[in-house]
Amino acid sequence: STMQVLDVRDILGQVSVLLETQGALNNVQISQSYMDEAPLLLHGDGNQLKQVFINILKNAIEAMPKGGEIQLEARMEQEEIRIDILDEGPGLTEEQLKRIGQPFYTTKATGTGLGLVVSYKIIQSHGGRIAVENRSELGARFTIHLPPAPAFL
Ligand code: ADP
Ligand code: MG
Repeated sequence: STMQVLDVRDILGQVSVLLETQGALNNVQISQSYMDEAPLLLHGDGNQLKQVFINILKNAIEAMPKGGEIQLEARMEQEEIRIDILDEGPGLTEEQLKRIGQPFYTTKATGTGLGLVVSYKIIQSHGGRIAVENRSELGARFTIHLPPAPAFL
């Protein structure tokens, strides 16, 4: 792996460019917002982190077969980098909430049930964590917490 100091905003920008077309083909719009203009620096593997956001965004697109909006938000909160990915799909059942992240758990005809397993592993190896919850109206919210780069890097 290649560890570097990275700005999370750059990674999110690259991933949304990558998935813009797939989203548009499914009537899904991806929007980004940042609480402030300061960079969100962390020490990590850019390719691995990109893979995490691709996995979560693909799930969000797949959760909205009729289209909708995905919101990507990133900010500093309590000395951690916090990234939120919100969709407008059906959200997750109790069963799904319990079992996502278990290898090969999928509710899709052609799913692998590995995307979130890999994502959890990558975020853990970066000293972070992923939380999932249903939004109050509709859809799911995936929240990723990551430690920022130490100031001396
Ligand atoms: P796969 O996409 O191959 O099914 P994942 O590990 O990416 O495997 O996801 C596992 C399961 O978690 C999915 O099959 C689905 O049931 C559920 N899931 C993940 N993301 C969402 C989402 N945004 N909305 C609803 N369900 C989701
Ligand atoms: Mg998936």
